[in-house]
Amino acid sequence: MTLLHPLIENAYRVLNGEELTEAEAMALVEQIHGTDIPDLISLANKVRNKFAGEIIACSIINAKSGHCNQNCRFCAQAQAHNTEIETYDLLDREEILSSAQEIYDAGVRIYGIVTSGYGYKNTENAEFKRILEAMDELHERFPGLKICASLGILSDETAKALMDHHLYRYNMNLQTNPERYSELISRQHTIEEKIDTIRYLQKYGATICCGGIFGLGETWRDRIRMAVAVRELGVDGSPLNILLPIPGTPLENEKLMTPADAAKAFAIFRLVNPKIMLKFAAGRETTMKDFQGLLMLAGMNSMITGGYLTTRGRSVEEDRNLIDNLNLFAD
Ligand code: SF4
Repeated sequence: MTLLHPLIENAYRVLNGEELTEAEAMALVEQIHGTDIPDLISLANKVRNKFAGEIIACSIINAKSGHCNQNCRFCAQAQAHNTEIETYDLLDREEILSSAQEIYDAGVRIYGIVTSGYGYKNTENAEFKRILEAMDELHERFPGLKICASLGILSDETAKALMDHHLYRYNMNLQTNPERYSELISRQHTIEEKIDTIRYLQKYGATICCGGIFGLGETWRDRIRMAVAVRELGVDGSPLNILLPIPGTPLENEKLMTPADAAKAFAIFRLVNPKIMLKFAAGRETTMKDFQGLLMLAGMNSMITGGYLTTRGRSVEEDRNLIDNLNLFAD
C-alpha cells in the first residue's frame, strides 16, 4: 500500500520529464491539504534537485524609487498611494557602481538595476541613456558580473539597446493571472504591453525573469493560471513574492498568506515549471518569518539577497547560512 495521496503519486511523473496539466495542478490545489502538503513539498524539492539543482543568489538596487504614475494595487511606489517610503530620482552612476562593488565583494555575481515607473520606450530618453551608461561601466569594472534590469515596459528599440549594453536578464512580472491583470493589478497599462516587452527581449536573446505575487486577493485558479502562463512564455526564471500589505495601498488590509498556503503554492508552481530558476523574492522575512526555510524546500533554487525594493531584507551572509543549513541537496 502506498502512503502517498494518489494525486501526488501521479505528479511524480514530472520527475520523468512529463508535464503537469493545468487540470492536474488544479486538482492538487483542491485535494491536497494538511498532512499531505509536506509530501507535495518533498516532491517539489526532488524536482528542483533534478532539474534546477544550482542555488542562484542575486542582488538588486532600487535605482529610482517612488513617484510612479502607474497605480499597481500592491505597490508602495505608486504616487497615488499614501505610503511612507523613501522616494528619489534615478541614482547617480557612482551610487549604482558602489552598491555593485559591495555585492561583488560579498561574492554575488548577479546584479539587477530596478527603477519605478511605466518604463522606457524611447532610446533618446535621458534617464534611459544614463542607465545604459551605468550598465557599460558595470560590465567594464566587474568581470563576470551578470547585469539584470527591471525598468518596466519597453519598445522593440529600447529592448535592443539594453542588449547592446550587456543586459543578461530582464525582469518583467506578470504579477498574477494575466486574464485578471486589469482587475487585480492595474488598468493604467495592459498585460499585453508587458508580454510584448518579453517578446521583444527574447527576440534579441535576453533571458527573462517573470513571476508574480501571491496573496493579493487572487484565487487558487489565478495562481495556477499564472504558473501556466509563465510556462507558456518560455521564460528562464520566476521570482515569487508573497504580499506584505503596505499601509496606504489599496491592499493594506489584505490578510497575510499562511506559510502552509505559500508552501503549497510554491510547490505546485515548481511542479508546473520544473526546469526554470524559481526565486523566493519579497516576503521571505516579513511574512514567512521562521518558515522561509520551508519555502526554499518547496522547490526554490534562488533568492534575492541583501534587501528588496521598499522593504529590508537580510544580509548576504545570513542568506548563505540559511542555504548551508538547509542542506538542500543532501541525498
Ligand atoms: S509596480 Fe512599477 S509600474 Fe506599478 S506602481 Fe509600482 S513602480 Fe509603478
